[in-house]
Amino acid sequence: MSKFRFLALKELSGRKPAERGDRAHGSAIFGDAVFSMEKMRQYLPSEAFKRLENVLAEGTAIDRALANQVAAAMKAWAMERGVTHYTHWFHPLNGATAEKHDAFIDLLPDGRVIETFDGRLLVQQEPDASSFPNGGIRNTFEARGYTAWDPGSPAFINNRTLCIPTVFVAYTGEALDYKTPLLKALSVLDKAAVDVCQYFDKDVKRVIATLGWEQEYFLVDEALYNARPDLKLCGRTLMGHSSAKDQQLEDQYFGAIPARVNAFMEELEHESHRLGIPIKTRHNEVAPNQFECAPIFEEVNLAVDHNQLLMSTMKKVARRHNFRVLLHEKPYKGVNGSGKHNNWSMMTNTGVNLLSPGKNPKSNMQFLVFLVSTIKAVHEHSDLIKASIVSQGNEARLGGDEAPPVIMSVFLGAYLTAMLDELEKKVSDKKMSPDEKTELKLNVGKIPEIMLDNTDRNRTSPFAFTGNRFEFRAVGSSANCSAPMIVLNTAVADQLIRFKQETDTLIEKGTKKDEAIFQVLRKYIIESKPIRFEKNGYSSEWKEEAASRGLSGETNCVPALRAYLSGKSRELLVGNGVLSERELHARFEIKNEIYLKKLQIESRVLGDLALNHIIPTAIVYQNRLLENVAGLKAVMKDYETVAEVQIATIQTISYHIREIQTKVTEMTEARKQANNAYADLVERAEVYTKEVRPYLESIRYHIDKLELLVDDEIWPLPKYRELLFSR
Ligand code: ADP
Ligand code: MG
Repeated sequence: MSKFRFLALKELSGRKPAERGDRAHGSAIFGDAVFSMEKMRQYLPSEAFKRLENVLAEGTAIDRALANQVAAAMKAWAMERGVTHYTHWFHPLNGATAEKHDAFIDLLPDGRVIETFDGRLLVQQEPDASSFPNGGIRNTFEARGYTAWDPGSPAFINNRTLCIPTVFVAYTGEALDYKTPLLKALSVLDKAAVDVCQYFDKDVKRVIATLGWEQEYFLVDEALYNARPDLKLCGRTLMGHSSAKDQQLEDQYFGAIPARVNAFMEELEHESHRLGIPIKTRHNEVAPNQFECAPIFEEVNLAVDHNQLLMSTMKKVARRHNFRVLLHEKPYKGVNGSGKHNNWSMMTNTGVNLLSPGKNPKSNMQFLVFLVSTIKAVHEHSDLIKASIVSQGNEARLGGDEAPPVIMSVFLGAYLTAMLDELEKKVSDKKMSPDEKTELKLNVGKIPEIMLDNTDRNRTSPFAFTGNRFEFRAVGSSANCSAPMIVLNTAVADQLIRFKQETDTLIEKGTKKDEAIFQVLRKYIIESKPIRFEKNGYSSEWKEEAASRGLSGETNCVPALRAYLSGKSRELLVGNGVLSERELHARFEIKNEIYLKKLQIESRVLGDLALNHIIPTAIVYQNRLLENVAGLKAVMKDYETVAEVQIATIQTISYHIREIQTKVTEMTEARKQANNAYADLVERAEVYTKEVRPYLESIRYHIDKLELLVDDEIWPLPKYRELLFSR
């Protein structure tokens, strides 16, 4: 057996689950590592704490004096816990999190060293961050970027470092991160939703959007991972024949969690809880070695920070258990990929979930307004919503029969579908009779408060109503949830603004409020009908029907990304002040650039593995066969009959080697041409997706065939059965 694969398997056979230890769990440690409001209260003078509370509630700026006080409190709390460094923690557009640590220490003029950390350092930093993607916003000669404190997300301690969540902007003020536009989108939604709520409840002063993500992931043994250059460099396998058994028996889903994995999960939960991430569920997913965890939902900005923090914590904890975590959307061909469902809703300061039916006609009308406006928003901006979740990794997952279709559609369930149908039929532009109005309101009032069990859960829908929230299932497992959350929250906000305008116009013309609301709802219900789909999203009929409804079936990432720049998208994002034209353009470019680079890396890795690992191995085996045939020839007259299989195999191996060699050369040539002919990254990405990408599949085909032919003992790479079933 090849040395690497042999050593990897040997190492694996000695693995034991990590010792459990006696860690405290749950409420005893929850938020230990977070500088929460509760701790602020303890560490701040009471007058300062009150001021801070006001500032946070009103979203106004924090003055320097207050910032100094908060910084001092943070420093005191952190130093008591052995913390020596602090960092601004932010989400640059490469999708990761970034931090640059600084020690608290400072030199006094007399040479003594003291620990300092003041409001200036808390509020703003200038990391030399010229290497983050910026889409042309920042040239390196003007490399300055600033980070600025986001008081909406509490500071926390990670790796003995005080981490301060921040936004990241260029010196011109343009956003270079995910958080800045997310905060803007959430504030636009807040205002728009509060305005609409005024029709129903004057006490509503603030609306927050809520997010509960479900994180799917694979675990793979570290030794096997290290023996697979494709996993190491690309996060997914570029080759590997499917295992005789993988997920077909569905015996993994919700099954008993393997002991080693359980030990990992326990430690992950422990760390997450200390960091204030409210992880609640864990289970096996459908594919072998695939798992999921999900928290209790939180305000969107905080939930996004917590998901980013979870992903980095997972990577760290996995290594302590000799695992690697794969967050890629499709690590293995032929088995399920991983997503990150975004459960999303809106909540008022009065504690009402705006996507949950209430107790009476009034609250249910409010529910219908938010429900229908969301559907309408998804219809209006379905291409942009799709653009917000496509990526090089997700491209391999979406549209497969285990993942949401690439066609955006909304599922409501039978009950609400009937409710919207009734509204459409009963309401008209004519004045309703008092009887008609009473009947309609009565029916609206009857929507059951607990819809959770009423929505038959259509798992094939990318955007499904699940009783008290929408579940956006097309988001990729490695994504920063901000990208879809920016688009979704802005789209719904925009729709709510329009709803209010249209309703007010009718009221001004003399229509009664309820009737005006019903009329606008009816109009939206009719206009947004094409996005509603209740049946099987995997069926081929749906593809045809969707096309006739004008819904995009684009499966490739690069063309799908173009929706970012459509007039409609620009009007939405720029018009609502969430992104400027330049910021939007920059994001579009960065997404293309990342796509291009990932594809380029995959193509190079595949070429290297094919030429330096696979072909040489095939030749070794072929030589063995040749030796065998030569031996037979020496002792047997009818060797051609005796060695028939060997000779045929020798020929087949030659055929695959030739195909691989030719295709790798062509692929390299295609890359070279694209690189030389297209300086523009977006154009180059388009050419790559057309000219380079197909080779990944066609080369793999021949390698996987060879895997079936060549002696298992000398095959260099851990096989699918080893990767998927070892734990
Ligand atoms: P399922 O797999 O059935 O969808 P999970 O329990 O795995 O259910 O995940 C459901 C997620 O939805 C959890 O993160 C939960 O907190 C979240 N959720 C529930 N209610 C809301 C809400 N109002 N807003 C946002 N997320 C919610
Ligand atoms: Mg779910």
